[in-house]
Amino acid sequence: MLDVDQKHHLHPWEHMGSWKEGERYAFTRGDGIYVYDGAGRRLIDGPAGMWAVQIGYGRKEMADAIAAQVMELPYASPWSSTTAPAAALAEKVAAMAPENLNTVMFTTGGSTAVDTALRTMQFMNNRLGRPGKKIIIAREKGYHGSTYLAASVTGKERDKSCFDFEDRLVRFLPDVNPYIRPEGMSEAAWCDAKVDDLERLIADVGPEYIGAFIAEPVLCSGGVIIPPEGYHRRTLELCRRHDILYISDEVVTAFGRLGHWFASEEVFGIEPDIITCAKGITSGYLPLGACIISDRVMERMTGADHDVLFPNGYTYSAHPVCCAAALKNIEIIERDGLLEHVRAIAPQFQERLTALESSPIIGDARGMGLLGCLEGLIDGRNTPLDVQRTLGARLDEACEARGLIVRPLINMCVFSPPLTISPEQVDQMFDILTDAISEVEEEFA
Ligand code: PLP
Repeated sequence: MLDVDQKHHLHPWEHMGSWKEGERYAFTRGDGIYVYDGAGRRLIDGPAGMWAVQIGYGRKEMADAIAAQVMELPYASPWSSTTAPAAALAEKVAAMAPENLNTVMFTTGGSTAVDTALRTMQFMNNRLGRPGKKIIIAREKGYHGSTYLAASVTGKERDKSCFDFEDRLVRFLPDVNPYIRPEGMSEAAWCDAKVDDLERLIADVGPEYIGAFIAEPVLCSGGVIIPPEGYHRRTLELCRRHDILYISDEVVTAFGRLGHWFASEEVFGIEPDIITCAKGITSGYLPLGACIISDRVMERMTGADHDVLFPNGYTYSAHPVCCAAALKNIEIIERDGLLEHVRAIAPQFQERLTALESSPIIGDARGMGLLGCLEGLIDGRNTPLDVQRTLGARLDEACEARGLIVRPLINMCVFSPPLTISPEQVDQMFDILTDAISEVEEEFA
């Protein structure tokens, strides 16, 4: 399997210098929070696939729901027809989203949901006769996907090599991570500084040219960065004041990761203009994304005098089988009380995570809900990048040898296990991490 894969399969984020030699995992099956590799070894799936498998692996009722829909109707054009699962899911998602967000466009994943959100802003401003109001404000370390536009608003330095981007349309704000604030600065002062960054950029560019601000509630792929307290509310206020659409990218945080259906309102107290989601909507069993649009935005795009097409969508928008999988997934999350479970287990998860900070090679252990990140730190913050990379990779190796998958990101490891993880399994996971860190500590001390 690995042999033919290596010959013919170009993976996402492949290292092009070594793509024929690079090491790969081959997973053969999954069960609960575990996956099994080709050698039959059982590993805890620390990242839940790719922040996705909320309900865990091996759910027969998911297979049954998917099979039933395949037999009933495996596909229908989403253009002017609908299907029972698509209509029911749209109603369900609208009911779960903040009160004013009631219109759902289904997409094929997170990137296409982000693309749709940004194009919605462009469409709206063209309809309103203000074609110049199109600049998008995004943030350093934010990740929004891999279509041209979604990649253009992604602020991860690592992802900026060799491709082209829509630079004319995008402006980035500096890192919001409280961990990097100057020594002695309070979190409240850091929040003021970060809100000022946005205010200054709006003034510099001119609000009449800015169409949208896109932000993950927690910057997940950037290293589980939690903006300072009050940041979300204050940035939303600024956007409202200047009629800039606030797009909350909840591709990771929606569907239970922080113990709620959506984090924007229920965790951070804001009602965005648009929310994007994917991953956890089907627990990764099938690909699906959604762009959820507020009534206020819809009103400005429609109406008797707006007799124009909204030419955006995909052959697989609202795919009936994917929608059936999402409905079953949501039913399982509700029936098994997984949101309540996450809220109950998160303190234990976060306490065990924070305890890892006592290691001399861990600079910051941060997280929220069932999201966690360890940021390695060897010798102050000026450690050369190649050493930092080695640290992340070594932590990954040491965890894997002990039966835990984590996701290395330069000098960091991130994890977001299936929401079904039990208190004993949380302990098992952090016991492995503690042990792995001790091993790596000896090498880098
Ligand atoms: N937005 C966020 C916040 C993400 O984390 C991701 C993927 O990790 C995406 C968008 C892109 O989603 P997809 O890979 O499904 O296109």
